[in-house]
Amino acid sequence: MANLYADVIIEISHEKLDRPFQYRIPDHLRESIAPGARVLIPFGNGGRTIKGYVVSVSDTPAIEEYRIKSIIEQVIPDYAHEPEAQLVALAVWMKHHYGGTLIQSLKVVLPVRATIKQKEKKTIRLTVGKDELLSTIDQCNKKHQKARARLLEALLECPEIDYSLAASRLNITMATLKPLAEKNIIAVDSEVAYRNPKMLIEADGNKKNLTEAQQKIVNSFIADYDMGFTQPCLIHGVTGSGKTEVYMELMDHVIKKGRQAIMLIPEIALTFQTVMRLSKRFGSRVSYLHSKLSAGEKYDQFERAAKGEIDIMIGPRSALFTPFARLGLIIIDEEHETSYKAENMPKYHARETAIERANLAGATVVMGSATPSIDSYFAAKRGEFRLYELKERISNNGLPTVHVVDLREELRRGNLTIFSDKLRSLMEDRLSKHEQIMLFLNRRGMAGFVSCRKCGHVCKCPHCEVSLSLHRNGSLVCHYCGYEEKFTHICPKCGSKYIGTMKAGTEQIEEAVRKAFPNARVLRMDADTTKKKDDYQKILSTFADGEADILIGTQMIVKGHDFANVTLVGILAADLSLHINDYRSAERTFALLTQAAGRAGRADRPGEVVIQTYSPEHYGVATSAAQDYNKFYEEEIGYRRLGGYPPISHMLKILVEDADAREGKTVATYMAKLAEYYKPKSTIGPAPDSISKIKDVYRYVIYIKDDDYEKLVDIKDKMEQWRQVNNVGKSTVQFDFDA
Ligand code: ADP
Ligand code: ZN
Ligand code: ZN
Repeated sequence: MANLYADVIIEISHEKLDRPFQYRIPDHLRESIAPGARVLIPFGNGGRTIKGYVVSVSDTPAIEEYRIKSIIEQVIPDYAHEPEAQLVALAVWMKHHYGGTLIQSLKVVLPVRATIKQKEKKTIRLTVGKDELLSTIDQCNKKHQKARARLLEALLECPEIDYSLAASRLNITMATLKPLAEKNIIAVDSEVAYRNPKMLIEADGNKKNLTEAQQKIVNSFIADYDMGFTQPCLIHGVTGSGKTEVYMELMDHVIKKGRQAIMLIPEIALTFQTVMRLSKRFGSRVSYLHSKLSAGEKYDQFERAAKGEIDIMIGPRSALFTPFARLGLIIIDEEHETSYKAENMPKYHARETAIERANLAGATVVMGSATPSIDSYFAAKRGEFRLYELKERISNNGLPTVHVVDLREELRRGNLTIFSDKLRSLMEDRLSKHEQIMLFLNRRGMAGFVSCRKCGHVCKCPHCEVSLSLHRNGSLVCHYCGYEEKFTHICPKCGSKYIGTMKAGTEQIEEAVRKAFPNARVLRMDADTTKKKDDYQKILSTFADGEADILIGTQMIVKGHDFANVTLVGILAADLSLHINDYRSAERTFALLTQAAGRAGRADRPGEVVIQTYSPEHYGVATSAAQDYNKFYEEEIGYRRLGGYPPISHMLKILVEDADAREGKTVATYMAKLAEYYKPKSTIGPAPDSISKIKDVYRYVIYIKDDDYEKLVDIKDKMEQWRQVNNVGKSTVQFDFDA
């Protein structure tokens, strides 16, 4: 019997994760040692016994056989209570489920101990008493110093605030602080290193009396939780229906039972308010992560969690890997958000990964959204998730009034401008009342699909039901199957010549707004106007201070920002994102429009929304205008069934990149042949990716569909094995499941 060898990593939270050491697997452990196994090994010249994790197993010694030491013993960890073992097991699952190497997965789940120098950190601290503070707030309000007033009001609730959080979420800058510091109302402390973002706040224990609908969810959760049922739950609740209040109640229960909770929120929605709200309820045992933390700061946060110094961790995707030893609950707010999917290998989805971590920890996952992802709602309908609904807003003011404008109609009437008559007249109205307006340009999918301005026709692939993209050489190309046709500049449906790609960008819109409303003060937020670090902040702060009437922007302005004085939202070209060559385009459009509409209006002044579109009859637009999620879901799931798309079927996208076009194509072609051999339901491609070349690297894609996810995993494994054995050329291969 040939010897087997294991590559073992020893310092788990170390930058040297890349350098495993090889050990011989003793015969009695041949059967049980697999990647992820925890082992005891002799290390160094003194033969010290230390702990390590196996990352791979092979039958080839890397050095002379006699120099390889033997594994001493395997240790079976207690997954439920040992976070490190839990996270290593999670990494093994991620490697299996999403592809890539185990090292890649380990780097995602384990924080690397810092060697990087920590950045300077600023904390804003209140230095006066409550009375003086209140009178200063009064003065600021009288002088229309709105940013200052906002900051002081926040300090009223929380006398020490992390500067970066305040800057980004309260829309203030250093210039706001200076005069206040000069008058000794606040102090700004700088520290080179501190262990946790400062939120000095007293828990007030104040909780609201839940509504009947909220209480029902809480009771049901508690009953299940206390009996050890850990089925994932999905709360479908319109914005403002009290989901966050429910989350807090669930966390409260879990913490009282001696366990801990993770709350995931999309980065962009990580508001000052969210952290404040939780801190007020739970005091200083709440911490949070955000993407601006250095690796060292993140590591420190994770250390505190591992030591049990905190009960709740709030943060984006990566907070999922908080090493709590008694994890009881994972909450995923806005679970439909695309930022929950990782962009690099392993391309994991936080939802699926959370469910896996919860399985290992014996914890429950609770997801919530006003526009649940089709994947989650489907799982809920099939009984995999428990479905809860919150149908009403807590406050009595209704949802905004939505007007849908058919742009084809405008063209017929001779209106060639970018404003429909409806939008123009509502804008005039708001400007005269000194209320604010947001104009949202849906730029998703600007990448060259072709449509007719007269009849709304969109050129689509006859084989794939996705839109074709116009290439510079003048042909229309399908990026799923490679189908190609000549672009004729004449609409195939109505014969008009008003057919082409949409060109309107934010700049053109700004120009048009300035021309149509010369007296309005206009701000534009897009990639061009936010090049410098503070630009983003400055624009939002100017708008929040009422120093502009109209804010024009892309997706950036839609999420997470609430401006009290905005009573009109115009959505220009709502349907651009409907025709991206992606089967999720209707889902994204529905969520985006519903979100954008939600920006309009507040308690005392209900808002209005104008959706301008060439396809008012498209179910993605029509159902979002009617705020009817269930109708949208029914239509969408029908479409997925027809096309064999997830969640009905599963899909593996393989991306092959190579600087040499021929090499790349050869590898991709071989991969596709290899896949065919295992007889999946369908193999499409290889075809050039929708971005066929980036920085002189050519990109080919293959789509493989099958009802059985594990079959796709098998195919992925076979491809990875083939790559290892035939390491020809320099192609890189990436896997993306249900992309
Ligand atoms: P969501 O998370 O669904 O958007 P929130 O939990 O933020 O909703 O609730 C919306 C608003 O209603 C918040 O200001 C919240 O404080 C308030 N609220 C929620 N539940 C109650 C309740 N039971 N009684 C009174 N106010 C509530
Ligand atoms: Zn096609
Ligand atoms: Zn036409």
